[in-house]
Amino acid sequence: MSTDSPVLVWFRDDHRVGDNPALSAAAASGSRVLCFYVFDEASEGVRPLGGAARWWLHGSLEALNEALQRLGSSLVLFRGPATSVVERIVAGTGASAIYWNRRYGAAEIAIDRTLKQRLAARGIKAQSFNGRLVHEPWEIVNRAGKPFQVFTPYLRAAFARPAAPPLPSPERLAGGAWPASLLAEAVALPDLSLEPAFPDWAVGLRKAWRRGEPAARERLARFLDEGLKGYAERRDRPHLEGTSRLSPHLRFGEVSPRQVWHAVLGAAARDPSLEQDAKKYLSEIAWRDFTHQLLHDHPHLPERPHSSRFEAFPWIEDRQALRAWQKGLTGYPIVDAGMRQLWQTGWMHNRVRMIAGSFLVKHLLADWRRGEAWFWDTLVDADAANNAFSWQWIAGSGPDSAPFHRIFNPVVQGEKFDPGGDYIRAYVPELAGLPPAFIHKPWEAPPAMLRQAGIRLGETYPEPLVPHGPARERALDAFRSLRRLD
Ligand code: FAD
Repeated sequence: MSTDSPVLVWFRDDHRVGDNPALSAAAASGSRVLCFYVFDEASEGVRPLGGAARWWLHGSLEALNEALQRLGSSLVLFRGPATSVVERIVAGTGASAIYWNRRYGAAEIAIDRTLKQRLAARGIKAQSFNGRLVHEPWEIVNRAGKPFQVFTPYLRAAFARPAAPPLPSPERLAGGAWPASLLAEAVALPDLSLEPAFPDWAVGLRKAWRRGEPAARERLARFLDEGLKGYAERRDRPHLEGTSRLSPHLRFGEVSPRQVWHAVLGAAARDPSLEQDAKKYLSEIAWRDFTHQLLHDHPHLPERPHSSRFEAFPWIEDRQALRAWQKGLTGYPIVDAGMRQLWQTGWMHNRVRMIAGSFLVKHLLADWRRGEAWFWDTLVDADAANNAFSWQWIAGSGPDSAPFHRIFNPVVQGEKFDPGGDYIRAYVPELAGLPPAFIHKPWEAPPAMLRQAGIRLGETYPEPLVPHGPARERALDAFRSLRRLD
């Protein structure tokens, strides 16, 4: 191996130069550093990204390339099954080592394992790091050394374990030229067709978000200044900007959870009045670690109910009802506002995700996988672990789930968390003329009030798709039928 061999950094959902252990290790090697990304929709078991996540990926890769260029390197893009593409890159560059940060899905782990074995056989060092989680799945275990299945004790253990401090960005990377044979194989970002052309459904996404590491850093700083105080209470109010909205940045690794963790701890250390809000916020970051642990230990979480008795659940396949839910036309304002926020911005408030999800699974008795798939396609933060876990939590089939009899009443939830109706007015403008007392239940508004607000139920806004009471009873019966199978 010649001493001027370069080292490689393979970027995968860790699109940042700050606190990137794989990049820092490459920089510390003193060798030339060649950076690349593989767009892989061909490997067995790798789930293709949904539309909104593809849109985000475009901006994320663009920003990463700019950041690497500022440091003296750049990002070269390839497409194809990762194992063979990476092997060709290693052979073609004559690299002595390759570094990457770990992923936790079964297909991704299988790719990494195969590559490590094949490269080791050729004497090439492949080294992986934790760049995605505060604590990796095998680090937080109970006294018997086993992974936790329930969040509360997991959180206690996570809080008791110090989080490694984030790494600074390398100051400079010794870049280098890629061999022409590999550049001929590389693809330009627009050739990946990640952004929609026609129709351009991403207009609202562009308005709502800035992608990339600098934007993530700014959002975190703004949240610390303006959002952390009061987070524990404000986080459930969908019409406020009461949460950090860091989820897509965390999903694509534009900010690391350790950076977030330490920034929040630092803020609370400077201002002790933030302690409770900081604790609540860190527990949400810990949820993210926990769902990744569950995905790691139960790789079928996105595809199959964790609790096998749910295989026999009497789901109802009603395409029309599913379509009404997707379009935000169920006749329940809080559900419709959430589904429209999702469509317009690629994001939905957590409280409303729970309400809209519960409505689909419990009021409509639709298989939770229909909801998971729709969210996968439309969320900019679509994440295999968080999405699958959350949907199974709602359905009651997950490892740590909501009880089957918790069926959110969408009117009560709306009145409690959006008492003034501001969230409804923002996303369901046809109801904007109703006062708070009726905006969550327009069917109860007096006819004169509806007329004055320009609302004709069934025409300008739908009647409820299913009445709450009977839908609730139907769901309870269906869930009880599972118990009889025990
Ligand atoms: P904040 O309240 O600011 O929280 C900070 C971070 O903590 C989030 O960015 C996220 O990374 C993590 N977090 C917060 N809540 C949760 C949670 N319940 N579970 C796991 N991690 C959490 N989150 C995703 O990142 N991707 C998904 O695909 C996803 N799908 C979901 C589907 C359903 C049905 C439900 C109910 C929730 C889902 N969530 C998902 C969790 C949660 O809704 C989002 O993480 C949160 O709304 C993101 O907004 P935020 O960054 O402002 O959150």
